Formats: sequence, C-alpha cells, structure tokens
Amino acid sequence: MATPFHRVNGALFVEGVSATALAGAYGTPLYVYSRAALEAAYHAYVGGGPIKVHVAVKANSNIGVLGLFAKLGAGFDIVSGGELQRVLAAGGRARDVVFSGVGKSVAEMRMGIDVGVKCFNVESIPELERLNEIAGQMGAVAPISLRVNPDVDPKTHPYISTGLKDNKFGVAFEDALPTYRAAAGMKNLRVMGIDCHIGSQITSVEPYLDALDKVLDLVDEVEGAGIEIHHLDVGGGLGIDYGNGDVPPDRTEFVRAILAHIEKRKAPRKREVWFEPGRSLLGDAGIMLTTVEFLKPGAAKNFCIIDAGMNDLARPSMYQAYHAVETVEQPQGKSRTWDVVGPVCESGCWIGRDRELLLRQGDVLAVRSAGAYGFTMASNYNTRARPAELVVDGAKVHVVRERETIESLYAGEHLVE
Ligand SMILES: *Cc1c(COP(=O)(O)O)cnc(C)c1O
Repeated sequence: MATPFHRVNGALFVEGVSATALAGAYGTPLYVYSRAALEAAYHAYVGGGPIKVHVAVKANSNIGVLGLFAKLGAGFDIVSGGELQRVLAAGGRARDVVFSGVGKSVAEMRMGIDVGVKCFNVESIPELERLNEIAGQMGAVAPISLRVNPDVDPKTHPYISTGLKDNKFGVAFEDALPTYRAAAGMKNLRVMGIDCHIGSQITSVEPYLDALDKVLDLVDEVEGAGIEIHHLDVGGGLGIDYGNGDVPPDRTEFVRAILAHIEKRKAPRKREVWFEPGRSLLGDAGIMLTTVEFLKPGAAKNFCIIDAGMNDLARPSMYQAYHAVETVEQPQGKSRTWDVVGPVCESGCWIGRDRELLLRQGDVLAVRSAGAYGFTMASNYNTRARPAELVVDGAKVHVVRERETIESLYAGEHLVE
C-alpha cells in the first residue's frame, strides 16, 4: 500500500481520499486521521517483542480513535477520571487501563477502583495513603506501581524534561525504597510494578537505557526487601519526525533495544514490560487542514492568514513547536517566504514561521504531524468552535467528532436578571 499520506499528481491524499475533497465536504479547520497510519504505529510497537502498549489518552482522546486502538487490543494510560470515561465509552476495558497523574482526586480514585483499573501509577506517600483509605472504604485492594524519577542527566540528554529531580513528577530515587516499604505495609494496596516517564519528543534510545539501568538497580533493591515487582513500565516519550531534522529511532528498533537491555540483566523472573506512548502512536497519523483567508505580503514579512489559530493547534505558540506546512495542491509558480498565522488576537497566534510556499487566497494547507496533542489541546479562545475530526479508512470517511456549534459554547451560560 502507498503510505497513508501521499500525493497523486501532486495532490495530497489521506489513504484513498483527496485532502481537497475532505476540506470541501467538511470545512476547515479540520483534523484528519488515517486509520492505516494509527494501526501501523501500533503494530510497529508490538512488532518489537512481547510488550503491552497503553495509549496515552491525553495525546488524542477522541473515542473514535481510542476505539480503533481498543479493537487492536491496546491498553490505555489515563491521567484523569474524564479520560477513564472516554476509554470506557470507546469500548476499552478497565482491566487494560493504567491510571497515571500526579493529582488524583478522591472521586477519580473511587471511579478507578470501582471499574477495576489494572494499575494506579502512584507518585507520593500521601497519594498512597489516600488510595489505601478509599480502597479500604470500598472493601477493595488497589493495584499500584510507583512512578520513580530516575533523574537522568540533563547535560547528556538536554531534551529530558520530566525525569529530573527538580520536577513535580514521580518519587525521588532515594525515597523510592522507603515508599515501596510504606506501600507494602498498607493493607488495601497491592504492589504490582514500577514505572517511569522521562520526557517527551525524545529522539534517541540512550536516555531510556540510562533510566532503565537506574530503575533495574532499584528493582533489585526492592525485591531484596521482599517486595515483588511484576511489571516494568517504561512510560512514553518517544519522539516523531516533525520534519525539522530530529530523527527518532524506529519504533520496532526502540522496543527491541529496551527489551534487549532488560534481558541483559538476567533477572530471576520474567516481568511484563509496558509502554505508554502517545505522540509516537498518534502524532504522524494525523494532519490539520486549514484554508488561506488572506495574503498580506509586506516589506519586512509576508503574512499568510489562515482559518486555524492557536486555539485549534496550540503547540507552535505554546512550545515554539515545528509542524511542516504544505499546500494540498501543488500549483506551478514561484514560492515566497511566509509566516503562517492564525486569526486569534494574539501575536503568539502562529502555526509556522519563515515557510517557503507558493500560496493563493483560498488554498487549502495541510499542517502535518498533528495527530497528537492537536485537538486535545484545542480551546474555545475567541469563542471559536473547535474543528471537526475525521478518521479516513481506505475510501471511507468517518466523522468521529462533529464541528462544534457556537450555540453549544454558551449553552451553559445564563443572563443575570
Ligand atoms: C504524557 C504521558 C505519556 C505520553 O507521552 P508521549 O510523549 O506522548 O509519548 C505517557 N505517560 C505519562 C505518565 C504521561 O504523562
């Protein structure tokens, strides 16, 4: 099969459907995901060896998308009760759900225990105490893992951002053993495993191997203290190729390298190995389509004003993130350098800077690699309705989310008498 996103006589296609036709039929801005691309990313992961993949729901929480992963047998990594409800609505199984997050509320813990999630990834002693108390009230035993913070050296790995000491996430390494002991002593908790999540958009395997060495040392200590560890959860964080020069390892090779590294330690027992990828499962399986509203060439800069803004795709303005921008059709002529900016009343509302493009008013553009942290970070700022979302499957188009209506945005608001 051709790659899910490909060109036919210069025109961009998502599987069997032209992007121009999608924009015409469903309007822009518009998120479009390829089912084949999602499935290929999942298969690339599980092709690396006997692992369990938990889709990080915060990357893309559309129930149509999550439902496709549920059909493949994937698990889910969630960070809120809302995400848990979405997974269940999508046909996901509670017993495949890992409940992460640094600030779980009483209600969220209750819900997780009630539906029977597979594991709570816990990040502190007060969180253990709260979970133990709630499980006790419910007459249940909650399965737990501790999220440890391996403090991977940021000098060697500058892109590591969540696996550091001065970070709000995880249990500090030196506190891990006493925290495991505390957990093992709580009668409504059962220790199942260990997890870490060291950062995002990581483009080499080395920081994972460094973190794994530390985690595996800790596992030896914890098991030495008589507490069994049944699974190792490596977290997510693997990067994708956004088209700006960062080339991450192939997903299958990445999984193989991690499994080989674990194998080398010759542990007395086989442990399950879990992953929690978000971006690397979803990121390059989606694009955002947008239309050129106006062109404003100028002495200092040429501005291309599009109908998608920072409320629709927040990553450029939030993280200075790069997304490739392409015209959906490829007209002949001379290109220029453009700043591709949105309509929101903020100078920070831009999607791409200094892009070499041949543009005409009314052209449809594709913003690539928008399948992860795209729609899920969209907002209604400037009272803008959020885009529709589609899944393309061969020649079939599924509307997995309708475009919001403006009325729905103020439906819960009330005039003052
Ligand atoms: C965000 C997150 C992930 C997914 O990260 P990606 O960079 O999208 O792979 C996985 N696990 C946890 C705990 C997270 O917070």
